Amino acid sequence: PDPSRQLLRERRRRDRAMGGAAERYYADPPQIERGWGALLIDSQGRAYLDLVNNVTAIGHSHPRLAEAVSRQLHLLNTNSRFLYRAYADFTERLLEHSPDPALDTVIPVNSGSEAIDLAIKLVQVATGRRDVIAVREAYHGWTMAADSVSTSAFDNPSALASRPDWVHLVDAPNSYRGPHRGPASGPDYARQVAALCDRLADAGRAPAAFICEPVLGNAGGVIPPRGYLDGAYPAVRAHGGLAIADEVQVGYGRLGSAFWGSTMQGVVPDVIAVAKAAGNAFPLGAVITRREIVDALRREGMFFSSAAGAPAGAVAGATVLDVIRDEGLQQNAACVGAHLAAGLDRLAAIHPLLGTVHGCGLYQGIELVRDHETLEPATTETAWICERLLGHGVIVQPTSERQNVLKVKPPLTLTIDEADMFLAALDATLSELRD
Ligand code: PMP
Repeated sequence: PDPSRQLLRERRRRDRAMGGAAERYYADPPQIERGWGALLIDSQGRAYLDLVNNVTAIGHSHPRLAEAVSRQLHLLNTNSRFLYRAYADFTERLLEHSPDPALDTVIPVNSGSEAIDLAIKLVQVATGRRDVIAVREAYHGWTMAADSVSTSAFDNPSALASRPDWVHLVDAPNSYRGPHRGPASGPDYARQVAALCDRLADAGRAPAAFICEPVLGNAGGVIPPRGYLDGAYPAVRAHGGLAIADEVQVGYGRLGSAFWGSTMQGVVPDVIAVAKAAGNAFPLGAVITRREIVDALRREGMFFSSAAGAPAGAVAGATVLDVIRDEGLQQNAACVGAHLAAGLDRLAAIHPLLGTVHGCGLYQGIELVRDHETLEPATTETAWICERLLGHGVIVQPTSERQNVLKVKPPLTLTIDEADMFLAALDATLSELRD
């Protein structure tokens, strides 16, 4: 069959079923059929290096995961309100990674958006308050509460005329661009949170919580400068509020030096939201928190979600954690991430378009600017580079409000050779653009 007609047919099938609202990678994406490690194979047998996929953290089509889940599917998959072993196998395995003994309770959900909605519900019920402080340029999900605390390019307050009045925004703590610059800007950004807490408390609306990613995903993998989270958390807690960490993108060992972004930043949240990597594209997420916070919810009515932590998903969740441990994937993220960062440093020395590299481990954001003083975003160049890299067999996408950051967040199995393949393709593409 004619490949371009086949592709067109797939696009039409999806649009007919879903309408135009569904997001997808590329205007004209390859039709992928198989995956292995960090590689994807399309219907023509072409291979692509998948640098965009922080969902399939242990790699595509991992045989241990496929076997474990299919074995469970043959035995039992049912409503999560039954008692069965897989549920506790997953929750206990996840709690082995808890960043603090006080965070001893875990509730499985189906997605990152649900984890955020549940986190917000928990802090509101536990504190008896409504107001939440969120960070600009963040994306936390599409469900009602998650959407309300998101301000990224995805921001779509659906039928709401405006953001709900319980949400209050502070600037993204970006030390490269923003109102405060430089590595010492953390306390300046944290003071904004403290001042907002004071204002809210004066108005009789002390915050229920502050929600932030420990590394700012949508802003481009920006690591908040030291003094930000460890300044903001005490400010919120001084007013009786709680801290929610959205670890949906950056948790699970991706940052290399620590399993959690919060640990890397030296803070202990009250509630942690996880998803994406948790099920390796099986719909699974979780909220990790303290017992008394969940108990507050229990007084209001029990939590349940029919398929959250159902046997097959729970087996997927436990297997992902086993594979991360057994294959040393966090260590791999640290090692290959350091190699990638060094290679990007070398490219920055010869390609002035490369403004800075955010992030660490296998979560890096390559920010492209036209001018190192004004930081004018190289938005059209970034889009062009992404299309060009696809021609080189590399899948990478732009991010940030300015769409000028190439975000590299591949499966944690990425090898040194694959990182080198990307660096060579990026070097060639940047040279082509310069000449
Ligand atoms: N939080 C963050 C930081 C995310 O990046 C995402 C998804 N991109 C979500 C929450 C929502 O997760 P999901 O798509 O699984 O609903």
